[in-house]
Amino acid sequence: KLFNELQDLKGNIRVYCRVRPFRSYENQKQTILESIGEHGEMTVTNPTKPNDSQKSFRFNKVYGPMSTQAEVFSDTQPLIRTILDGYNVCIFAYGQTGSGKTYTMSGPDNAAKEDWGVNYRALDDLFQISEDRRSFFSYEIGVQMIEIYNEQIRDLLSSDGSQKKLGILATPQAHGLAVPDASMHPVRSTEDVIELMDIGLSNRSVSSTAMNERSSRSHSVVTIHVQGKDLKSGATSHGSLHLVDLAGSERVDRSEATGDRLKEAQHINKSLSALGDVIFSLSQKNPHVPYRNSKLTQVLQASLGGRAKTLMFVQVNPDVSSYSESLSTLKFAERVS
Ligand code: ADP
Ligand code: MG
Repeated sequence: KLFNELQDLKGNIRVYCRVRPFRSYENQKQTILESIGEHGEMTVTNPTKPNDSQKSFRFNKVYGPMSTQAEVFSDTQPLIRTILDGYNVCIFAYGQTGSGKTYTMSGPDNAAKEDWGVNYRALDDLFQISEDRRSFFSYEIGVQMIEIYNEQIRDLLSSDGSQKKLGILATPQAHGLAVPDASMHPVRSTEDVIELMDIGLSNRSVSSTAMNERSSRSHSVVTIHVQGKDLKSGATSHGSLHLVDLAGSERVDRSEATGDRLKEAQHINKSLSALGDVIFSLSQKNPHVPYRNSKLTQVLQASLGGRAKTLMFVQVNPDVSSYSESLSTLKFAERVS
């Protein structure tokens, strides 16, 4: 019933735009956000160029700077709950570095419960429901966490903190286990989850010695697997939720970037456009979907398309200094929505 309700909501792809509040160092008078409509409309302008025309967009939802984590989650929750019925769901955060991707997906560092992002709230909710349904269903919940950096996959939760590069299963039919060698961690409580995420985050920064802020140049993918069993009929189901904090989408100045930085930029560019192409093909119902063009789309192949559901959070800075980046972010989002 929940699924039908969701299907009525226009296809399997939805795009939510979120404009974060100003940071203290930004020039508060210079917002690019002109208006937000009742039905996902938004208009942006460049306040330093009053003669330029304003640009209008429309998404499934738009959240302004005052939106709360709870509000954002409540619109996402029905989608997430379908994984208990055996669906695959992918949720992405797209945007330039500093636009709030990690804030939306995880929350600020050491967040209090009310600041939790989608990932903690999702797991909390799943634990709650499995508890409520305990007499009729049993659910086993497991978590994987990987990083994709320069088209290489690394397990962020391996016990030895190994740098081993992981492969992708060529035919990702094994219950959504696209990266079967990434360690799987059973979780039973939100405490378990917080502990795991802490490990993942610290492993992510281990390798950032040479390059600072590596997290903005890699994709992190948290995958929640749910194995359900109907205690009466014995029927089983498997659903998965991928929560993807994408690498920053900012364009890198080719004249300035050299060596490793240029290589990183090329990998990011390639994988983000591959993702855009896949979602665009799906939205156009093209028979050929170009999954093979990046590791990111290969990892997520079984969860993009078919009966799987996709949600993209498009993150935007309000500040005028980010105007052109924000515009290209919004155009990327418009194409896939
Ligand atoms: P990204 O992951 O895209 O690089 P972050 O999520 O790290 O960006 O956000 C950049 C900064 O802005 C962080 O300090 C974060 O806590 C803050 N921030 C982002 N979105 C919000 C929001 N909606 N409300 C309050 N602070 C936010
Ligand atoms: Mg981030």
